[in-house]
Amino acid sequence: MMVEVPEYRVVERVELPARETAVIVVDMQNDFVHPEGALFVPSSRETIEPIKRLLEKARRAGARVFYTQDTHYDDDPEYRIWGEHVKHGTWGWRIIDELEPKPGDIVVMKTRYDGFYGTPLDDLLKVYGIRNLVVVGTVANICVLHTVASAALRWYRVVVPVDGISALNDFDMHAALRQIDFLYKGTLVKSVEGVVFT
Ligand code: ZN
Repeated sequence: MMVEVPEYRVVERVELPARETAVIVVDMQNDFVHPEGALFVPSSRETIEPIKRLLEKARRAGARVFYTQDTHYDDDPEYRIWGEHVKHGTWGWRIIDELEPKPGDIVVMKTRYDGFYGTPLDDLLKVYGIRNLVVVGTVANICVLHTVASAALRWYRVVVPVDGISALNDFDMHAALRQIDFLYKGTLVKSVEGVVFT
């Protein structure tokens, strides 16, 4: 079966006030990003360098950095869908060395696809007066999309650099980008280079 990819808009550049903007790095953990991880997403490797550059730029400008860390415990119902992954305290659960959180960054553990569901993320963003979110990480149509959706439903402005997210196949990637643009009115930007903190 063939499907036509619906159109979505990707811009070259977006300016964001650093003090009201946070970067959210979604689930860049060994189980998803390391080749020996339990649920390895091969294309996630290509996002490591762009995300690293984005984080350096954000920290330099004074924008806050958040990480979501997918976290499950014994007998989590999600294991029935995906098998055991990112079990609390294991190597697979840890954020990859290349993107290790720095002092001052905030790591939010989450148990479902949505970074807001049952977590203090919304409260923390409000405490710091954050209105804009730059969301990167994996997987594009799963935890990235659910987190973007949840942010948009709360009226955050969401920006997604296309080279900072990864999916298991092209369909999933296009479907996620289409939803972010069409349904959640997020801004897709071609690459992290186009994200400018002011
Ligand atoms: Zn999970």
